[in-house]
Amino acid sequence: MARGCQAWGMEIPAPPSTDPAGFRSGFVALVGRPNVGKSTLVNQLVGQKVAITSPVAQTTRHRLRAVLTTAEAQLVLLDTPGIHKPHHLLGQRLVQSARSAIGDVDVVLLLVDGSQPAGRGDAFIVQLLRQVRVPVRIALNKQDRIAAGQAEELLASYQALIDGGEGEPALDWPLHPICALDGAGSPALLDSLIAALPPGPALYPADTVCDQPEQLLLAELIREQVLHQTREEVPHAVAVRVERIVEDGPRTAVLATVVVERASQKAILIGKGGAMLREIGREARLQMQKVFDGPVYLELFVKVIPHWRRQPARLAELGYDGA
Ligand code: GDP
Ligand code: MG
Repeated sequence: MARGCQAWGMEIPAPPSTDPAGFRSGFVALVGRPNVGKSTLVNQLVGQKVAITSPVAQTTRHRLRAVLTTAEAQLVLLDTPGIHKPHHLLGQRLVQSARSAIGDVDVVLLLVDGSQPAGRGDAFIVQLLRQVRVPVRIALNKQDRIAAGQAEELLASYQALIDGGEGEPALDWPLHPICALDGAGSPALLDSLIAALPPGPALYPADTVCDQPEQLLLAELIREQVLHQTREEVPHAVAVRVERIVEDGPRTAVLATVVVERASQKAILIGKGGAMLREIGREARLQMQKVFDGPVYLELFVKVIPHWRRQPARLAELGYDGA
C-alpha cells in the first residue's frame, strides 16, 4: 500500500540517509491553543510540498500530525487533544489524563501566539506542564506581527510564566521566537527539539510525512453510514475515496467521493431532493468530529464508475490493492 501522501499523487522528497550512529528519534507533543499556528509550523517544518493531516493514532491520548525525518533525527509530532482547552480540564480526572498523555512523550513543544502577551490560557498550560517531568520548549510564534520596540515586553511576559510565582522553582525551558509563516527561527527550534530526543533508530520509514490510515478510517466512517442507510444492491457497489483533508483553523474539511457502479445506484444514494446523501453526510460528520475532537465540514460527491469492482486499477485507486 502507498505510504504517506503518495496516494494523493504528491511528490515525496528523497529520504535522507539515516546514519544509525548518533541518530535520535522520539515523540514530540505539540501543544497550543487554536490558531496559534500549529498547522502552519508543521507545514513549515515538514516542508511546504506536503499536505499535513491529523491522522488518528492508535490511542485517543495522541493524534499523529506528521513525521519529520532529517539526517540526524526523526521527530514524530503528536497532537494532544484537549490540553489547549482549559475549560474542559477543570475536573481533576481530566487534568490527570492530560498529565499522563504528555508524560509519555520525549519532549513537549508549546506553541503560543508571541505577538500577544501571555494570557490565562498560557499560564494554565504552563502550570499543567510543570507537573510533568518532560522537557519543554516554548515557541513564540508570529514574530512578524510584533511592532518595533514591543518584543522585549512580550518576551518578558512569557519569561515570567516559566520563572514561576512565589515558592515555585524557575524552569529552564528555552523560549524560541519564530515565524511559522516564513520559517524564521525554525532551524534553531528544530535543533533544540532534536537535542531533547533520546538516541534511537527511525520509528517510521524515512519518507513518511502523513499517515495513510487516516484517509482509510474516514472513508470507512462514510461507507458505514451508506451501509446503514441504503438497501438492496447499493451497499456492495459502494466504495469511498477520501480526496482531501484540509485543516482550516480549528475546523477540518474533508472532501470525499462515493463511487457506485450504476446511475440507478447513484439516484438511490442521493435520495429525494438529496435527502439520503445529506443524512449519510450528517451521520458520518458526527463520527468524524469525535475523531478530530473539533468541528468538521464534510463534502460528499457521488460518482458512477461502471464495473469498478472488476477493474484492478480502480480497485487499487480505491484502496483495495490487497497489499
Ligand atoms: P492552529 O489552529 O494552531 O493550527 O493555527 P494555524 O496554523 O491554522 O494558523 C492560524 C492562523 O495564524 C492562520 O491564518 C495562519 O496563517 C496564521 N499564522 C500562523 N503562523 C503565523 C506567523 O508566524 N505569522 C503570522 N502573521 N500569521 C501566522
Ligand atoms: Mg490547526
